[in-house]
Amino acid sequence: MHYLDNAATTPVLPEAAEAAKDIMLHNFGNPSSAHRLGIEAAKELARCRNVVAGAMSATSDEVIFTSCGTESINTAVRAVAHLNRHRKGHVITTLLEHAAVKQSFEWLRAEGFAVTYLQPDGQGHIAPQTLLQALQEDTVFFSCQLINNEIGTIQDIEALGKAFKQTCPKALFHVDAVQGLLKSQLAPRRWNCDFMSVSGHKIGAPKGVGALFHKKGLRMPALLHGGGQEQGLRSGTEALPNIAAFAKACEVQLAHMQESNAHIAALAAYLKEQMEIALPYAYTNVISDVPHIQNISVPGCKSEVMMRVLESENVFVSSGSACSKGKQSGVLKAIGLPKERSDSALRISFAPYNTTQDIDALICAIQKGAAMLRR
Ligand code: PLP
Repeated sequence: MHYLDNAATTPVLPEAAEAAKDIMLHNFGNPSSAHRLGIEAAKELARCRNVVAGAMSATSDEVIFTSCGTESINTAVRAVAHLNRHRKGHVITTLLEHAAVKQSFEWLRAEGFAVTYLQPDGQGHIAPQTLLQALQEDTVFFSCQLINNEIGTIQDIEALGKAFKQTCPKALFHVDAVQGLLKSQLAPRRWNCDFMSVSGHKIGAPKGVGALFHKKGLRMPALLHGGGQEQGLRSGTEALPNIAAFAKACEVQLAHMQESNAHIAALAAYLKEQMEIALPYAYTNVISDVPHIQNISVPGCKSEVMMRVLESENVFVSSGSACSKGKQSGVLKAIGLPKERSDSALRISFAPYNTTQDIDALICAIQKGAAMLRR
């Protein structure tokens, strides 16, 4: 199998699966229980929080565990809605966001907030000037992604955060760093972030665990009411097996981050080289800022059809975000890609375990598909 869809999700790292199994079998206590088993579980929870917070460049008291990136994002957006429930106001995001942010902003609109979507340039970047022009006296919130899940562009979050907070010091700033954790250095405090969302299943942890950074001292409403876990913000017994696997995945990825990034950069260069040799009719849609996400088009071959051909050759890629399920990509439209190119776009996303053999299989399968589909 040649799995090249790691921006959608990653296989669980064996070390992470072991960590989860160990908790399930040997440390199954409820972290809120007062007896020894509970205390052991609580100790492990605190250790894991410290590890994940470290990977987010945050401290333990700034991080709560959630079930996924989407929940982290929704928690931040709901906090903004709650804090501004009387006066409402103006909120800003970009045309590049994942559905978790986009749909949350549509919910804010339905709740009475005015929404502005920032237009990126042709290479998928949001200029601080574009943000400054959109700011209004009543702007209360700005949410921006760090790395785009379809085209791999990185936003200059530091410059955007600075521009935003200089003009609107009281407004809140959320960064969707779901595609950035352990691929790029996160710096929520330097970035002036109030919230930052990450997810476990993008880095080799199981599905069902994410985390939210929230700035110290921020008054936030509870998402779930109950026993007061996760600083009272998200009640419910903590999913310690998933959390332990998340912490282990962070440790493993962190230990190899430099070599992984170098390996993935070499894979991206190999893909480019092989495309030039074997697929002269194909395009790289955007020069991505990170090597692990590449977006290409094979004109004349509809993405969904090509994906099926690749699948029959045991090669797995996607046509865009896993949540878009074949709808036209808003991201590719926002950067002005011609329709023929966006209709034939394929997202190839690498993880450290991928090899040049995966790319050879991909190129062969695309050649086969193109021979069938291109006239
Ligand atoms: N934000 C971005 C940029 C993503 O790529 C994703 C998932 O693909 C999410 C948010 C949602 O994360 P999750 O799947 O953990 O809910």
